Amino acid sequence: MLPCQRKTRTQTRTGRAHQALKAPHGVQCPNCGSVKFPHAACRECGYVRPGLKLAVAKED
Ligand SMILES: [Zn+2]
Repeated sequence: MLPCQRKTRTQTRTGRAHQALKAPHGVQCPNCGSVKFPHAACRECGYVRPGLKLAVAKED
């Protein structure tokens, strides 16, 4: 199938104005204060939610 009518330059560019990527969202860890992804374990301390904490491998 082909589009029955050619899109103008403005229609193409107006549509593409919504396609930009957004920066990944970060929230502050309530346990250690570093930035982490929401609904994910903290990379620094392993905190997930009250009562659940994952072991984090130390890199040295
Ligand atoms: Zn943390």
